Parts: sequence; C-alpha cells; structure tokens
Amino acid sequence: MAEKQAVDSNHPSPKKIFQIDARTLGITWNDGHESVYPVKMLRENCPCAHCIDEWSGERRIKPGDISDTIQPVKLHSVGLYAIQIAWSDGHDTGLYSHELLRRLCQCPACRGK
Ligand SMILES: [Zn+2]
Ligand SMILES: [Zn+2]
Repeated sequence: MAEKQAVDSNHPSPKKIFQIDARTLGITWNDGHESVYPVKMLRENCPCAHCIDEWSGERRIKPGDISDTIQPVKLHSVGLYAIQIAWSDGHDTGLYSHELLRRLCQCPACRGK
C-alpha cells in the first residue's frame, strides 16, 4: 500500500520562489498558500547576527539604512528549513527559516490577521 505524502500544515515549505516585480518577491507554498513580500521589508527583517542583536533581540537596522533599490541577487535553500538570501548590498548572512517567511507574509489574508 502506497503511502500518500501528507503536507504537514504546521511546517509548510516553499514550492516556488519567484520575482513578481523588481520590488516584490513571491513564494508559493506546498500547502497552496501564496505569499508576497516587498523585498525591502525582507531585507529589513534579516534575522542574522549582524542585523539582530543576539542578546537583546533588538533590530540593528535603522529606518533608512536599506536602500529602496535593494534586490535579492541569489536565493538558495539551506537544508529543509531555511532559505539564504544574498542581497545587492553585499549582505548574504541571513538565513530565513520557512517559519519566519510565513510570519513575514504580506498577503491580504495574513495581513488581516
Ligand atoms: Zn543580516
Ligand atoms: Zn499570506
């Protein structure tokens, strides 16, 4: 008997990551959800130790620190849980976990929550 692979709704993972336009990134998830992200917002929410103070959890990026023309230049999957994004400002240490990406989703449904 073949076992059907169930989608774990608590841990959805990205099926497709694509550029919607110059400033917007989209992710289609394996549970069918479609996320949209202004790329600048993603950069501002970089979870790496340079951008978030490890001890206080305080964000080190100040409003205006990130250019409006910021672009993701390279994305790649890290293991089964995260995506690493390299940015046009040279920053590439941010590992965006799938969980974080779902939390940052700016689609109307998620924003309305
Ligand atoms: Zn960072
Ligand atoms: Zn959403």
